Amino acid sequence: MKTRLIIGGGIVGLATAYKLLKHEPREKVILLEKEQVVGAHQSTHNSGVLHCGLYYKPGSLKAKLAVEGIQEMVSFCREHQIDHEICGKLVVATNELEASRLSNLLERGKQNGLSGLELLEPGGIRKIEPHATGIKAIKVPQEGIVNYRGVCDALADEIRNLGGEIKTEFHVSRISRHDSQWVVASKDNEVNVDYLINCGGLHCDRIAHLAGAEHQMKIVPFRGEYYRLTPEAQSLVSHLIYPVPDPAFPFLGVHFTRLIHGGIEAGPNAVLAFAREGYGYKDFSPRDLLDSLTYRGFWNFLRSYPTVAFAEFHQSLSISKFCRNLQKLIPDIRVENLDTGGSGVRAQAMLPNGQLEQDFHIVQDRESLHLLNAPSPAATASLAIAGHIVSLI
Ligand SMILES: Cc1cc2nc3c(=O)[nH]c(=O)nc-3n(C[C@H](O)[C@H](O)[C@H](O)COP(=O)(O)OP(=O)(O)OC[C@H]3O[C@@H](n4cnc5c(N)ncnc54)[C@H](O)[C@@H]3O)c2cc1C
Repeated sequence: MKTRLIIGGGIVGLATAYKLLKHEPREKVILLEKEQVVGAHQSTHNSGVLHCGLYYKPGSLKAKLAVEGIQEMVSFCREHQIDHEICGKLVVATNELEASRLSNLLERGKQNGLSGLELLEPGGIRKIEPHATGIKAIKVPQEGIVNYRGVCDALADEIRNLGGEIKTEFHVSRISRHDSQWVVASKDNEVNVDYLINCGGLHCDRIAHLAGAEHQMKIVPFRGEYYRLTPEAQSLVSHLIYPVPDPAFPFLGVHFTRLIHGGIEAGPNAVLAFAREGYGYKDFSPRDLLDSLTYRGFWNFLRSYPTVAFAEFHQSLSISKFCRNLQKLIPDIRVENLDTGGSGVRAQAMLPNGQLEQDFHIVQDRESLHLLNAPSPAATASLAIAGHIVSLI
């Protein structure tokens, strides 16, 4: 009997363990997670949106797995009675440049096989979101909101029911090979396994290095901050309202999201995090910060996009700037309508030339597989990514 090991108990690692156990019930599957609970980082510090594949380059892994993934995720939620709602979303263009980008998005969505997409004029926008303004919008009916904490917990239950083992508080710090097996160790524990799958999220590049896998990328952590709309402002948003993203970036821009358990969030922006799991300005890791600042790719990135980087930083420090950005979509929003909300840190793979890797990225090595870029919509697509990983190994 072979033993397969997954490092990382985020939604993708959990989904992978679940799919492996379903696919090969006779194999032993162990999942290691450094925190006390599974799903402690990106998987539960996100917008809680079910994305259906509108944005992604046709033919890319992201496009394929997002389209399949949302269907699988919705079925999983139905089967496990996890709160979710397909409430639909508007992507709103507020000027001519965005309107031309919106037409490209519509084409992409159609090429990716999405149905029911509708191009709206200002009157159509107001019917769905009476307080939003824009010159054009795409209505995306398949998208929705979900409780990703519920998904992570249900996956963990399934893994245990299928005979898999989840070891929490196991921080992998050493990986070596002996007698055709991997020896994967923390400070005070170790396991011997035949096959290793790295789903380490914000630390996936370091885990790949520990296992000796060659790759060029570095994870550069981008923090995103949210504001919560005060109760009296919540009637300004009915569903999900997104701006038209800049095609040069994998981030979608600050948006309004209705939360599955009530309330409305606005965000996230994108600034360099001072620690890979640093959720505020006070969270600081000398190692993580030095890692970003001494990376040639990071300086090339700043050289390529200085204005965007500065604007995001400014927006993070100034609530008025953040609010002005939101007012492009909903002019009635005021600074006093914004309470501080949560934050999340994106594990974004950056190449030495400063480009951000846009697609999901997988590296296969000897008896191992490393998922080295799994940003949004990897939560929505987690079950499809897991299916893809299982098919590769
Ligand atoms: C602000 C923000 C908003 C987002 N919005 C959405 C959205 O609305 N919809 C969507 O689909 N996606 C969204 N995403 C993306 C989505 O959340 C992530 O793509 C997804 O959660 C990635 O899951 P993961 O399992 O790869 O990573 P993670 O959830 O980060 O899990 C990785 C796990 O590995 C563990 N780990 C790391 N190193 C070690 C080690 N050495 N030993 C043991 N364990 C280790 C970590 O503790 C962690 O639990 C968003 C992300 C962010 C940050």
